[in-house]
Amino acid sequence: MMMRRVAPPASGEEAGTTTTTTTTMPEWLEALLSTRFFLSCGAHPASPRNECNMFCLDCPSPAFCYYCRSHRHQAHRVIQIRRSSYHDVVRVTEVEDVLDISGVQTYVINSAKVLFLNERPQPRGAGAAAGKAAASPYNCEICGRALLDPFRFCSLGCKVLYHH
Ligand SMILES: [Zn+2]
Ligand SMILES: [Zn+2]
Ligand SMILES: [Zn+2]
Repeated sequence: MMMRRVAPPASGEEAGTTTTTTTTMPEWLEALLSTRFFLSCGAHPASPRNECNMFCLDCPSPAFCYYCRSHRHQAHRVIQIRRSSYHDVVRVTEVEDVLDISGVQTYVINSAKVLFLNERPQPRGAGAAAGKAAASPYNCEICGRALLDPFRFCSLGCKVLYHH
């Protein structure tokens, strides 16, 4: 009749993680947010899948393409950036383990949950009516964008600004 003691929930997290500061943002995040994606790769100009939509978490590197990934980042953690209405997004499943995304509005696009990397310019002047139509009880704490759900930030970029 031996009962194993079970560790209380939520305290088991510390053990295996290499980072002790879970509330600060990882070093690569600012690089990610300032990287321009979707340019064609200079190293693979004639290849069909040469748009630079990949970002490496393990080495400082500009955005790179599918072929660069298999040549130079094979063993690295790489995330793929996607586009929604000309804005860069990343799938929640690709970043939730490496980044604290709490508070950031998620959207479902092509049946995948995504986050916007950066604040999107908002309609001004002529678009004021549109802005009003989008009025919501929830707004980004940094840029004021109306949010769909009770989140604090519209994008990772706004969250980073908040923590500065
Ligand atoms: Zn390339
Ligand atoms: Zn790499
Ligand atoms: Zn915002």
